[in-house]
Amino acid sequence: MKLATFESGNTLQLGAVEGETIRPLGFAGTMIDLIADWDAKRDSIARAAASAKAVPLASVHLRAPVLRPGKIFAIGLNYADHIAESKMETPKHQVWFTKAVTAINGPFDPVQVPKAGPFVDYEVELVAVIGKRGRHIEPDQAAKHVFGYCVGNDVTERFWQHQTPQWSLGKSFDTHAPIGPWITTRDEIPDPHALGLRCIVNGETRQNSNTRHLVFNVWQQIAHLSKAMTLEPGDLIFTGTPGGIGAAMDPRQFLKAGDKVRCEIEQLGAIEATFVAEE
Ligand code: ZN
Repeated sequence: MKLATFESGNTLQLGAVEGETIRPLGFAGTMIDLIADWDAKRDSIARAAASAKAVPLASVHLRAPVLRPGKIFAIGLNYADHIAESKMETPKHQVWFTKAVTAINGPFDPVQVPKAGPFVDYEVELVAVIGKRGRHIEPDQAAKHVFGYCVGNDVTERFWQHQTPQWSLGKSFDTHAPIGPWITTRDEIPDPHALGLRCIVNGETRQNSNTRHLVFNVWQQIAHLSKAMTLEPGDLIFTGTPGGIGAAMDPRQFLKAGDKVRCEIEQLGAIEATFVAEE
């Protein structure tokens, strides 16, 4: 299924997306509530979706599928071509940073060029959404802990990222974690390591790669993170970005108000933001 969080009128709802339509699930709770109870709810949800009246996707406002994840972790330097353009060595250990949960943004909502930091860049990424909670998850069990996948843009303020050794502030400005357009459940994505992904800025393709080029794959990422902490339903893992970032272009290119950035991943759909100056 493709599960979305959307607004219609003034109410927030969950829905199942089919083609250009969405069917409200009539579920009283958040996406995280649904994910946490998915094994028990999935059949009744599928029935509810099948009997609900489909409305055009274009008539609703899609919000971030998970509005308030418990945590957002993101891995750095995880595609060979991005490591090379960053003039870094392939890391022996996984390099993790967090993004603030307040950075979450809808799939088609505006993204801010912050007053405090105009050096804004894009990073298209496969995002894994955790389903089943767990600690010390072995790589060969990791798939069972994934609820599904969506597209993310790990929007980054490069000056803030690099003015200190710790990247988290430069990765955590408000609106800088757009995700969506919905969650595609993992039964529809038998191999998350075979998905083409692209980032297109004002019609120009800047990043164009495939998740088969991940240095540490999704299962290794889940195993490593869960050695340290319990992963919970709705937690988000940004799995790394391929080469082609604006900061590595010659001359360097940063995003400015009016720019349109589209991030797309095979089978998962596309998100697209217009960048705007922070009010
Ligand atoms: Zn990233």
